[in-house]
Amino acid sequence: MSKVQTQTFFMKVLKFGGSSVAKPERIMQIVAILKKYLERGDKFTVVFSAFGGVTDGLIDMAKKAEHGDVTYLVAFEQVKERHNAAAKALIQKDKLQPVLFSLEKNLDDLLNVLKGIYLIQEVSLRTLDYVVSFGERLSNFIITHTLDSNGVPAEFLDARYIIKTDRNFGAAKVDFPETEKRIAQYYAKHTDKIQIVTGFIGSVKGSGRGKDFGLTTTLGRGGSDYTAAILAAGLNAEVIEIWTDVDGVLTADPRKVKKAFTIPTMTYAEAMEMSHFGAKVIYPPTLVPALRKKIPLYIKNTFNPDYVGTLVSTQKNKSEHAVQGISSISNVSLLTISGSGLFGTPGVAGRMFTALSNNGINVILITQGSSESSISFAVQPNDAAKAKKSVDSAFENELKNGSVNPLVIEAELSVIAIVGENMRFRQGIAGTMFEALGKNGVNCIAIAQGSSELNISVVVPRSDESKALNALHEAFFLSDTMTLNLFIVGTGLIGSTLLKQISKQAAFLKAHHSIELKVAGLSNSRKMVFPNDERGTRNDEQINAELLKILNEGEQSESSSFIVHRSSLHTFVEKMQKMNLPSAIFIDCTSNASVAHTYKDILSSSISIVTPNKIANSGSYAQYLDLKSVARKKGVKFMYETNVGAGLPVISTLNDLMNSGDNILKIEGVLSGSLSYIFNNFTKDTRFSDIVKKAQTLGYTEPDPRTDLMGIDVKRKLLILARESGLPLEENDVQFHSFLPKSCVEAPDVETFFKELKLADDHFSKLIQVLPEGNKFSFIAKVENGKASMGLETVDAKNPFYTLDGSDNMIVFTTERYYERPLVVRGPGAGSEVTAAGIFAEIISIGKYLL
Ligand code: ADP
Ligand code: ASP
Ligand code: MG
Repeated sequence: MSKVQTQTFFMKVLKFGGSSVAKPERIMQIVAILKKYLERGDKFTVVFSAFGGVTDGLIDMAKKAEHGDVTYLVAFEQVKERHNAAAKALIQKDKLQPVLFSLEKNLDDLLNVLKGIYLIQEVSLRTLDYVVSFGERLSNFIITHTLDSNGVPAEFLDARYIIKTDRNFGAAKVDFPETEKRIAQYYAKHTDKIQIVTGFIGSVKGSGRGKDFGLTTTLGRGGSDYTAAILAAGLNAEVIEIWTDVDGVLTADPRKVKKAFTIPTMTYAEAMEMSHFGAKVIYPPTLVPALRKKIPLYIKNTFNPDYVGTLVSTQKNKSEHAVQGISSISNVSLLTISGSGLFGTPGVAGRMFTALSNNGINVILITQGSSESSISFAVQPNDAAKAKKSVDSAFENELKNGSVNPLVIEAELSVIAIVGENMRFRQGIAGTMFEALGKNGVNCIAIAQGSSELNISVVVPRSDESKALNALHEAFFLSDTMTLNLFIVGTGLIGSTLLKQISKQAAFLKAHHSIELKVAGLSNSRKMVFPNDERGTRNDEQINAELLKILNEGEQSESSSFIVHRSSLHTFVEKMQKMNLPSAIFIDCTSNASVAHTYKDILSSSISIVTPNKIANSGSYAQYLDLKSVARKKGVKFMYETNVGAGLPVISTLNDLMNSGDNILKIEGVLSGSLSYIFNNFTKDTRFSDIVKKAQTLGYTEPDPRTDLMGIDVKRKLLILARESGLPLEENDVQFHSFLPKSCVEAPDVETFFKELKLADDHFSKLIQVLPEGNKFSFIAKVENGKASMGLETVDAKNPFYTLDGSDNMIVFTTERYYERPLVVRGPGAGSEVTAAGIFAEIISIGKYLL
């Protein structure tokens, strides 16, 4: 090794990415940062990327020219204008002319290449590398002069002069010995000015003549990070600082997980895993020279320069989190080879991976079950067809004799990886991971864990990626909080009361139970509203109030915080499914049949349901069973305590009795608040129709009182109770003799009904006249001996139902354990406050289950 190679320059290597230099004002912020370094006496060199979006723009114009699309010229003019404008904005007038002149010359060169591509309609990787190199060359040139004109002595360094590579255009491999030698030699001679180095580019070793750099290469997209690390290795730098647009390496991609936060320290290996599995914030090869020379690497935010950011070094994070970060690769294809020929045959995997590597295919993840009957591996989607061709041809003979099946490709998948060195020493990590995914209905298509236990990766459907990331983030980093995403349909009395209760209680639930409630969608029959993700600083109480206001007052939302649509149940459900949020709950505050018909679809998409709407559970028995079974299969909750007795614990009591092995002998109940009110107030001195009217006016009956008086409502509740107690009953199995005269039952509408009821007043008066003293009427529903029945009964003072007053409900369970003294549940069985509270309680119980 020569002397110069081991020279140490006591220098920092800084790198600023594309977004940090996307606009002239941002570049001025960097000038301010660098001035501080200079004033502090730091020695440093700086790598800049192309202005944000320019590399994409250059690729785009080359492709257009290749396809004979003359608008490449328009794209070129835009890039030209952008650089000229930046120079004019940043550089002092008296120093500007020569800069503009050089830019003009460079841009002419670019234009000539593009014209050449247009003429021959072909662009090789080699030419493309040359085209994109203009991005970094132009930006660094302008920035060098900007620094100079702001009193920071700077010198432009074209990295092609020092970074030497092979001829692998597009992602060239660096010749480190040669490159480090050149770096050391160059920096030894250029000591009086700060070197401003083009990121991303290099040149082919030995291809240059004289002063010529040789063929231009690039180091792969995002490669400016790598340039910084290569420089640092050549300089034996003391530190590398990658300046970007976020506060360091975060626990997850902040574009996909809003609650991601900075990881303060991580090891090279962890950073490598994170970046390999999709964390774009560091280009993975960057870590190799940094690790080799043990150079600490900081990730810092150009827009928040005082924040410490992330330190990547040999030092492990001492935090209590075993998992450091979660990352994902958004689009992969999974290829699976299977067949009897794989079993116990050594060398199969070897042959397969040799075939893949011979064809230059990069394998992201591999899994093999211990049965050896199949091997799956993930690749980039555009490699899938090539991978299949190469593997199928490697197994040509086996395919012919049928011992191996043709490779199967599954597309539209994502890989999600949890990463952390401390995972090695903790049990239960995989358990937490799969529980969180399972509870959110995310299907794991393949699973892989490196033997280093640094990473566990799962392949999931691409459509579930965001949900899976958020669910995992919640499980590993916010394990002490659970955010529930609520989708509420119906803003009548119950729906709006529920919203008020939620708003009032939200802070308490967060503080004391770590459950956070977010209304993610709200709809009534006219409109539906979806708050945007950016909730700003307003609290949930304000948001919920605003949501209701928009729906009820017909106000068009002016803020961008809400998306308002005309109501459509279908669109609401579809949008909710597309949003695919973790821990989502659909809450049906209607009594609508069409809403009930969507339940199966909703449960199938792994969304829990809480509903006071009785229609779904009192339809056919098959449907009732089906909904329960879909919920079970999908690992979500289907909760309907408020179907019977509003907020009273009726169904849960019944379930608890049965689950603990009690034997239910009889269930008797007054299940209708309206009938209860009517018969409690009907006396010898009153007219029956007047009482019904009064009950209606007071809101004790359904809007159409026939639903109550004809027993429809009680029948639904009774059926649900019977079914919950294990009886497979249908509506027709319920015995019921109506207490209404035929004329009332047959009335076609509410108005006629009341007329007929008036005519029947004498009939009811007769009934009450013959009622023995000390007795009263009670409408009782019953499940006994496998049968369900309901009807008007006379009860005396000894009967438990005798004491009921107002609109109270009461349910009496006679069981083997509660035989002499039955178990009684009694209280208000209707009303928006208690019903909403019942729904709320079920929402919270889902939160606790998920936590
Ligand atoms: P630059 O232009 O500075 O090179 P990049 O766009 O290449 O910046 O990388 C920074 C971006 O990486 C961030 O804006 C963020 O959107 C994304 N990113 C993905 N995963 C992570 C993560 N785990 N932590 C931080 N940023 C991440
Ligand atoms: N400008 C290059 C790219 O966009 C390199 C980089 O930004 O790191 O890929
Ligand atoms: Mg980058």
